[in-house]
Amino acid sequence: MNDTSHIELAMAERETPLMLVVDDDVVIRSLIKKALQNQAYDVVEAPNGSEGVEMFRKLHPDLVLLDVLMPMMDGFEACSAMRKLDPERTVPIIMLTGLDDVTSVDRSFDAGATDFITKPINWSLFSQRVRYSLRTRDMDFELRKNQLRIRHALQVARLGYWDWDVRSDQFYLPPGVLEMLGINLGGKQFGFAELLPFVVEEDRDRVKQAFMDARNKGQRFEIRHRIQVIGETERYVYQQAEVVVDEAGRTRYVMGTIQDITAMQRAEDMILHQAFHDQLTDLPNQILLSDRLSHALKVAEHSGSKVAILVIDIDRFFLVNETLGHDAGNMLLVLFAEFLHRYVQEGDTISRIGGNEFAILLESLPDINLLHDLIRNIRQALHEKAFEILDEKVHLSVSMGIALFPDDGSEAEQLIKAANAAMRKAKALGGNQECFYTSDMNRRVHDRLRMENDLRNAIDNKALELHYQPQVDVVTRNIAGMEALVRWHHPEHGLIPPIRFIPLAEETGLIRQLGSWVLEEAIRQTAYWTSMGYLLRVGINLSARQFAQDDLINQVPELLRKYKLDAKCIDLEITETIAMQDAENSIRKLHQLKELGVNLSMDDFGTGYSSLSYLHQFPLDVLKIDRSFVMDIGKEGGTGAIAKAVIAMAHSMNLEVIAEGVETEVQYEFLAKHGCQMIQGYLISKPVPAEQFEKLLKK
Ligand code: C2E
Ligand code: MG
Ligand code: MG
Repeated sequence: MNDTSHIELAMAERETPLMLVVDDDVVIRSLIKKALQNQAYDVVEAPNGSEGVEMFRKLHPDLVLLDVLMPMMDGFEACSAMRKLDPERTVPIIMLTGLDDVTSVDRSFDAGATDFITKPINWSLFSQRVRYSLRTRDMDFELRKNQLRIRHALQVARLGYWDWDVRSDQFYLPPGVLEMLGINLGGKQFGFAELLPFVVEEDRDRVKQAFMDARNKGQRFEIRHRIQVIGETERYVYQQAEVVVDEAGRTRYVMGTIQDITAMQRAEDMILHQAFHDQLTDLPNQILLSDRLSHALKVAEHSGSKVAILVIDIDRFFLVNETLGHDAGNMLLVLFAEFLHRYVQEGDTISRIGGNEFAILLESLPDINLLHDLIRNIRQALHEKAFEILDEKVHLSVSMGIALFPDDGSEAEQLIKAANAAMRKAKALGGNQECFYTSDMNRRVHDRLRMENDLRNAIDNKALELHYQPQVDVVTRNIAGMEALVRWHHPEHGLIPPIRFIPLAEETGLIRQLGSWVLEEAIRQTAYWTSMGYLLRVGINLSARQFAQDDLINQVPELLRKYKLDAKCIDLEITETIAMQDAENSIRKLHQLKELGVNLSMDDFGTGYSSLSYLHQFPLDVLKIDRSFVMDIGKEGGTGAIAKAVIAMAHSMNLEVIAEGVETEVQYEFLAKHGCQMIQGYLISKPVPAEQFEKLLKK
């Protein structure tokens, strides 16, 4: 390749061809020079063979005229030496021989000469010969260049060609093709039997068939297959062959191309893989899951076995994202995917079908107990396991929904939908549990979508309302505060309790607007009553997501400023479950809120799983005893022991106690006796609209 580019350069740089004349006879030399100059060539001369070779090396002339008979180094020797410098024979060398000197002519060609001219020189023939030689040289040069281009193009395309002479069973390939494929046959001649072993075993029959059909039936072919050379990785090749027949119509040659398409195939494989896998966890995605499920259903139809699909959703996953960041969330998803892998068997599929939603497909379930075992094992392991992310330990719980074939449907999509509906049910029941699909769930999914839409409209159209439930001082029975409780008047379904739409708002993210609205409205209303002269503290419930939100810290003081309300007059309520989700972060967050001067209370105390050590670290002002413990008081068999213990504990921690859900005088008296400071419940009043609450204030 280098040689040729060198020639190209020499040709390009020189407009007038340069001729080298080597002859010991000074007269002949000058005659030749004259003749050449007449033809407008440039000429250099050398008086002997060795100087001639030297000039050839230095100047790389376009043509050489070389005398045979010279002292010291004769013409043959000089010619050989020049050819050593020019193995591709790009420069024509014309030898000057004596008339009828046949041996010299032969020896000249042996030494690498291109042509000869006899002495004495016939000058008119001389110029023809020279011109002809130069033209041949130019043509030769063009040909070489084209061949080089083709070779280069073939190399780039990793494409080669071959001929198969079917009579002699010999393959002919240009140099480089076998090397390209990594095949080494030691330069020997070879036939079909020598090539076939390089084809990987699974593809061998197909390849053999194609070649035999070409030979025996004259059929052309196109085939993709793999080849394998010992010590190398598999390669993919694409072959295309045409058949050349003789006069009798029998196959004479098969001529084909072979292309190494390994790189292309790998790219294709990768794209295919990406289309069917989740990028983050590399698990099969929803498309592949549906595909495998459909396949499993077909098999199960015949075998009569069951197929199960489990949809698994990580509870309150958004909290990880919002408190530790998205990278941490992603890490957790990867760890969770690895975790699930321990529970499935070969042939079962784990898939990631949504943000924090996974699915397990059990393809053939001989015994439903295996499914129960799987669920139990996952739960048990999750209970004991902490996922470590960025030096934080994160505990997870999951909601699972299960659908079965043939019980719950016969189509893949239908079953996935059913499992999803069941999972939503598990979520709605508070998460950390599993639900099997039941036939009325589809309607509920539909309802849920409608509800979501309606709720969005309600928030946009300010169709939500706050009710206020009074909290009274246990000694004076005067109203000292109230809890703001949100209400939604649905145009068709009437009053919908917060238990039904707060979780929905959380899941869909609508809680952001809803929460902001509640916060502002409660502060506005309280500021108004304060301006009328009432001294009140309003309890405002924070949802999990709202508590995790960053802008809460800014929102609260802004609103207090806007409505000119003292921070002391609001009491932000969070539940234990929310605080314990990521206790370390909650401590930080609560301290930030505390610095704003607001009160903080622990709602529904006793229903979660606070550890006391954390409770000590939360900067709280109020504990709200959950209604369930209050209910216990005065009931048959109830002792109120828990309520009593909670009050004692709260006092030891210097916390004020509010009892929720007080409905009877018996309860009231009991709580008063044991030191509870504030009472909230139907005994005093149900939560009521603002105008009605105002009437209660005025009493
Ligand atoms: P919570 O914060 O524990 O609120 C107390 C719930 O107990 C209220 O139910 C109230 O109506 C009810 N209650 C009060 N006294 C009695 C009683 O004597 N007997 C009985 N049976 N019930 C009583 P509600 O209004 O249905 O709210 C339920 C939950 O919804 C609240 O529990 C709170 O967690 C949540 N919630 C309500 N409003 C909001 C809000 O604006 N934002 C957020 N994030 N959550 C809210
Ligand atoms: Mg509350
Ligand atoms: Mg409560």
